[in-house]
Amino acid sequence: MKLYEFQGKEIFKKYGIPVQLGFLVHENDEVKNLTPPLVIKSQVLVGGRGKAGGIKLWEGNTDVSQIIHELFSLNIKGEKVRAILALEKVDILREIYISITFNRGKSTPVLIVGTSGGMDIEKSAQSDKDNIHFIEFDPFLGILEYQIRFIAKKINVENYSEFKKIIKAMYKIFKEYDATLVEINPLAITPHGLVAIDSKINLDDQASFRHQVLFRKLEEEQKLIQNNEDSNISKFKEDTITHVTLSGNIGLISDGAGTGLLTLDLINDFGGKVASFCELGGITNSEVMFKALKIVTSNSSVKSILVVLIGGFNRMDDMAEGIVKFKKEFKKEIPIFIRMCGTKEEVGKQLMENKNIPVYDSLIEAVERAIKEARGN
Ligand code: GDP
Ligand code: MN
Repeated sequence: MKLYEFQGKEIFKKYGIPVQLGFLVHENDEVKNLTPPLVIKSQVLVGGRGKAGGIKLWEGNTDVSQIIHELFSLNIKGEKVRAILALEKVDILREIYISITFNRGKSTPVLIVGTSGGMDIEKSAQSDKDNIHFIEFDPFLGILEYQIRFIAKKINVENYSEFKKIIKAMYKIFKEYDATLVEINPLAITPHGLVAIDSKINLDDQASFRHQVLFRKLEEEQKLIQNNEDSNISKFKEDTITHVTLSGNIGLISDGAGTGLLTLDLINDFGGKVASFCELGGITNSEVMFKALKIVTSNSSVKSILVVLIGGFNRMDDMAEGIVKFKKEFKKEIPIFIRMCGTKEEVGKQLMENKNIPVYDSLIEAVERAIKEARGN
């Protein structure tokens, strides 16, 4: 999940990273009694806002509501502006780039620091590699003092203790929120110290179950801003489902292609035949499961359904929820047999048990039951 600047800055503030004072403006909000100079920033999730005209400076000699109106009429790289953050302008002496993310190739977290941050960071990172520094570090030890000292010297930051505090706080956020990216670009050196001018935080959706209250709050805030059609809240398209119609009488749903093909073979070996096969497309959620059940049951040849799930990234409670929802909304008589294991399997199995949907630990047993049911005995 990508966070808006204002959401990221709220987290920054909580962790002691200095940010400007500011407030959020929604469309049709009345704004009055503002004191210039203000930086007025459209809140969108795409990058390159400044370059696209999404940031305006109000120095007091024009009508601020006109500026706000202009920003709300913008469409930045396909994203309509629905919220604006108005911030007190700070004087910037120099802009630095800092981020913490993963180096997936090396399987480590990495601190990235650029001497000259700002809107041209991508270009300057390409053209002047000496100005950008990558420091991989041990996730258990965190970023060590000598590494911060080294980098502060490299990029010539004088306010060392402030700089250290910010980097430590960024890693704390990275770790505690299960983020995949915490970025400040630019971190401004101002006459009054360091200030995070921008924020970019991406959270790992796969870890959302560890932060349910937080995710709910962030999603609620985002829903206020977004229309359904441009919501970035993890939405899985139905086209992640691969659907194959065959000539038998069993519906087969699997969360991965390997599991699906193995089960297809087992069904054949035990004398059954599949009529409709849905593979959910790897990492998936309850909505996709719900949709797959709809697809499979729309085939009138299907007399029993076998669902085989191996929870790695997929959570069995999510999968079970999709099945329960389907049972509730479509009171079809077709019996469903489940084999589920892996992440959150206890919760998933309990949900199934509550609805009297049989779950088998043995794949073979589940296969045999589905075949038997489809035959009508
Ligand atoms: P982005 O384009 O989405 O990355 O938006 P940023 O929030 O990073 O702002 C883009 C640029 O606007 C920054 O690199 C700054 O140069 C400038 N800017 C933003 N806020 C301020 C401010 O308070 N004071 C000054 N002087 N410049 C600002
Ligand atoms: Mn920026």
